[in-house]
Amino acid sequence: MTNRIIINTLDFTRKGKHQKFVLTRADLPRLTDEAVLVNDEIEANVYGDREKDGKPFLDVDISGGLKLTCQRCLDLYDFQINYRSRFIIAKNESQLGEVGEEEEAINTILAETELDLLNFIEEELLLALPMVPLHDEGVCVKPQVFVETSDITNPFIGLK
Ligand SMILES: [Zn+2]
Repeated sequence: MTNRIIINTLDFTRKGKHQKFVLTRADLPRLTDEAVLVNDEIEANVYGDREKDGKPFLDVDISGGLKLTCQRCLDLYDFQINYRSRFIIAKNESQLGEVGEEEEAINTILAETELDLLNFIEEELLLALPMVPLHDEGVCVKPQVFVETSDITNPFIGLK
């Protein structure tokens, strides 16, 4: 795996480092679901820095094109991912709790000496995908076969 990059998170933020990834499907083994296809390259950037009050953070942005399988008509549709998030780094467990209480909307992660960045990005990418991929309302209809049968082996029943 050429993109495997392990960082010490606090060291990365202290030095204000930036790591760029250009990912293809081969780099994202957990996106193996046939419902998700990486049709373009996915670009991801991780920036380390500190906020004005000194809190170290990682900024992650992910952008690129995917094809998702619409769970209504089962056709593929284009999905543009444009994700950005900030993670405050807590130096220990008690600080993790403090930051979480102060700013609930903010993601916090525990400092790590060996964080696998690609793994981290892949997790965020999975979270950024819609739980139930669907075309916009009115764009497609359920195929007749799915309307008429209530096949309990259909994995998509119950997802709505
Ligand atoms: Zn559809």
